[in-house]
Amino acid sequence: MSKVESVDHKVISGISANSGIAIGNIVCINSNRRKVLPKSISETEVDNHLKIFKDGRTALLDELSGMLDYLDEQSGSIIDTQKQIVLDSEVEKRVESLIKEELLSSDFAVYKTFCDFIERLKESGSELFRQRIVDLENLRDRFIDVICDDDKSFSIKKGTILVTKELSPTELVSLHAEGLSGLVMEKGGITSHAALIAQSLEIPCIVSAKSATSKAFNTKGVLDGREGVLILDPEKEILDKYKIKLKKLKKTQRRLLKNINEPSRTKSGTEFFLSANIEFESELNQLKKYNATNIGLLRTEGLLFSNKTEFDEQLRFYDSVILATEGSVTFRLFDVGGDKLNAKIPEEANPFLGWRGIRMLLDEKELLETQLKALLICAGKYKGRVKILVPMISVEEEIIALKAIIEELQSKLRNEGIKIDEKVALGAMIEVPSAALNAKNLAKHLDFMSIGTNDLTQYTMAVDRGNEKICSLYQQQHPAIWELIKITVEAAAKTNTEIAVCGELAGNVLGACGLVGLGIRNLSMISNAIPRIKEELISHNDSEFDELAESFLAASNTTQIKEIFEDWRVH
Ligand code: PEP
Ligand code: MG
Repeated sequence: MSKVESVDHKVISGISANSGIAIGNIVCINSNRRKVLPKSISETEVDNHLKIFKDGRTALLDELSGMLDYLDEQSGSIIDTQKQIVLDSEVEKRVESLIKEELLSSDFAVYKTFCDFIERLKESGSELFRQRIVDLENLRDRFIDVICDDDKSFSIKKGTILVTKELSPTELVSLHAEGLSGLVMEKGGITSHAALIAQSLEIPCIVSAKSATSKAFNTKGVLDGREGVLILDPEKEILDKYKIKLKKLKKTQRRLLKNINEPSRTKSGTEFFLSANIEFESELNQLKKYNATNIGLLRTEGLLFSNKTEFDEQLRFYDSVILATEGSVTFRLFDVGGDKLNAKIPEEANPFLGWRGIRMLLDEKELLETQLKALLICAGKYKGRVKILVPMISVEEEIIALKAIIEELQSKLRNEGIKIDEKVALGAMIEVPSAALNAKNLAKHLDFMSIGTNDLTQYTMAVDRGNEKICSLYQQQHPAIWELIKITVEAAAKTNTEIAVCGELAGNVLGACGLVGLGIRNLSMISNAIPRIKEELISHNDSEFDELAESFLAASNTTQIKEIFEDWRVH
């Protein structure tokens, strides 16, 4: 329980999607998702409904384009993707066929087309894709609002904290322009589009706040984004405390950005490296802002999501990433599964335990080889700067099989006279307990290992990372996770293999300090976390980090670990 929760106040808790503090009036919107019922039309109405669909699409595209003025590049690319979905030829074909052949109304045809697509995503084992579901539902509902000429948007006063079931990017951007100061959503994960946009607009935000709209009422409130809590109707004492906190926070932000050009060394002089996790091309400008030399995790699933899997498209993307980076880029092979790539695959009972990551890639040879070929050619052009990372490794045989494929591809490229990097680095995500426990054997085949604490937590704690009902059991800081990290670090040391962490734990202050204490020097995180992590790491001696990690390993639960950290920071 957080300190705030232990105080006798009405508190709504959720998962922190963006830190920061907001103090203001709460507005609670308790509306449900639009349900569209099938409506038949007559043949004479077909042309009219086709026109309604096309006009609605144009209006929605205009609305989305208008939002670009308010957004930075990162969020702008989200809107661009939404535009591509709205314009997708498959969407058009399907909607038109439902209107023309099945004589269904335009709003229901759009509704059904999106719902079918969403159903397919639901079956995907990829967390990234599953988090896109809320975004697609929002886009679908907005599309229908526009078709029905139903302007559901509402206004807020400056400084409002909004509590809602969910919010579309369009609504979030327009509310930001009206002065939204904080956001609490019942749905959505920390990487849903609304959460990502809240991050780039720097709006404190909580997601997965169970029953928030039934608990909240229109009153004054304090939103503590970092703690993931919204305090309703706070007493004067709490309010004053938060006003001081807010002032300090603003001062801290100014100071943190100043630290960014300081050398990355602990007080004892040990060097560490803070790299960026990147997903969108438009995030690349953040590398400079936060002085990140390397990309420690480049998620490539976005290429699949936007249908850019052709060899040339991939190579262009990989080249542009390298060109925007000073140092190395760790490109992770596609981490998806389920039926996303092949609609014929039967639905899986347990997609997270199913056909995902390397398991899928080894079966989908063409997809794997196209990606590897693009990466190997990119590596040949930029020697020593491309690293290949394999997701979801659970057994040694997977690495052996992948290495054989890489060697074969390299030999083909060599024969064709194409330049390659003979020493291109190969690494595995350590994100499944079997991989951590067997790291000493896996490492023999690898140049580096990167610990993915997000999935490692999911699989170790047996907690679906996207399930709101059990999110309190999704404990990245649990002693069991520290134990598995320690085993992996020891395996890396024994085999002289480079080791890094690219899961969210690395971008968390407690996590980063503990990881450095365990001997890890490479941490990769969402880029805006870099200043805060850097400040903490340059403020302590190695022996302090070592002692902290030892205490974490001796603890028996997450509550104790959090207490240990609080005490450590104070003393
Ligand atoms: C992880 O699992 O920790 C990780 C970094 O990968 P993703 O969040 O993309 O699954
Ligand atoms: Mg993962």
